[in-house]
Amino acid sequence: MSLAPYAASDSHSRGRIYQEPSPAYRSEYQRDRDRIVHSAAFRRLEYKTQVFVNHEGDLFRTRLTHSIEVAQIGRSIARSLSLNEDITEAIALAHDLGHTPFGHTGQDALNECMKPYGGFEHNLQSLRVVDVLEERYAEFPGLNLTFETREGILKHCSSREAKKLGELGKRFLQKKQPGAEAQLVNLADEIAYNNHDVDDGLRYGLIELDQLREVSLFAQQYDEVQSLYPDLAKRRRIHEIIRRMINRMVVDLVENSQRSLAGADVGSPNEVRDVPHELITYSDEVREQTLELKRFLRNSLYNHYRVRRMSMKSSNIIKRLFDVLMHDIRLLPPQYEEKIAESAATNVDAETGQARIIADYIAGMTDRYAIAEHARLFAPEVPV
Ligand code: MG
Repeated sequence: MSLAPYAASDSHSRGRIYQEPSPAYRSEYQRDRDRIVHSAAFRRLEYKTQVFVNHEGDLFRTRLTHSIEVAQIGRSIARSLSLNEDITEAIALAHDLGHTPFGHTGQDALNECMKPYGGFEHNLQSLRVVDVLEERYAEFPGLNLTFETREGILKHCSSREAKKLGELGKRFLQKKQPGAEAQLVNLADEIAYNNHDVDDGLRYGLIELDQLREVSLFAQQYDEVQSLYPDLAKRRRIHEIIRRMINRMVVDLVENSQRSLAGADVGSPNEVRDVPHELITYSDEVREQTLELKRFLRNSLYNHYRVRRMSMKSSNIIKRLFDVLMHDIRLLPPQYEEKIAESAATNVDAETGQARIIADYIAGMTDRYAIAEHARLFAPEVPV
């Protein structure tokens, strides 16, 4: 299928930091996607979570299944808009690589620990994973991905951090947009989690169907399913509602973006970047509805007392790990101690270098590894 003139393509790519020969039988963005799938950080996504902790149940979404859902939704939007599916998939599969264990609670806790050392932010960490932390190739550190995939991974960034990132940081300082595929993955991410959090929340009994009927996006689909299938069993009914919600958001996004792309008259990926606002967007009505759904999820699910209790425990695990390792680096696995020694030789501020490596170690942990490591360090009865 032919791509739109504003779609990402090999001929428009700004390339990789370390030059490499072009791949045979694959596009540059396919190669990015393949490198991401083969990375260690990607495999860890299986045991990391967003809202629920990994051991709480086998049916909840993990960051791995979430990323696959984002890729699925992203690719079907990309195809409908004649955008590049390969880079869409690459960005979708990599977008959560830098997340700490225990979802946002984990990130907030680690960010607090890292305050004196420049903070911790999961988007920057995802970039750090693909640029530096993956150790797989003889010729370069990281995965050496294309500029455009890295641009898509770095969703947000403060101006302070942007200044350190050279070319990649420029758009944040110049207030420009990323390419169309990066814009799209951002929304595919939102569509995926808004819907699967409803599903997981219902399954876990933290939210109820009746409460959700006050949310207009849900209520519309609920009514339709009720009138078509009045006797449907609860589980099927929930799925019929959720699949309609996903469809409603995706179709709205495609149709509205088709209009704004046509109206903006963009002829290349760079012209998409120069438009002062994003071109991949919902209609005003659906945007309002998604905001309402997000507010509902924040109040009723993410702040549910059972979720908060687990968050408190997770936060304590992260903080205690950081404190004890920062206090005595000899407790770290030897390869991290070596990295700290290396960084001390180069870094002006050795303590900051040490903190960053401990943050890398903690951020790389899965939920279950963090729980086990915490027990090994703090529970006298657990072998070290
Ligand atoms: Mg995500």
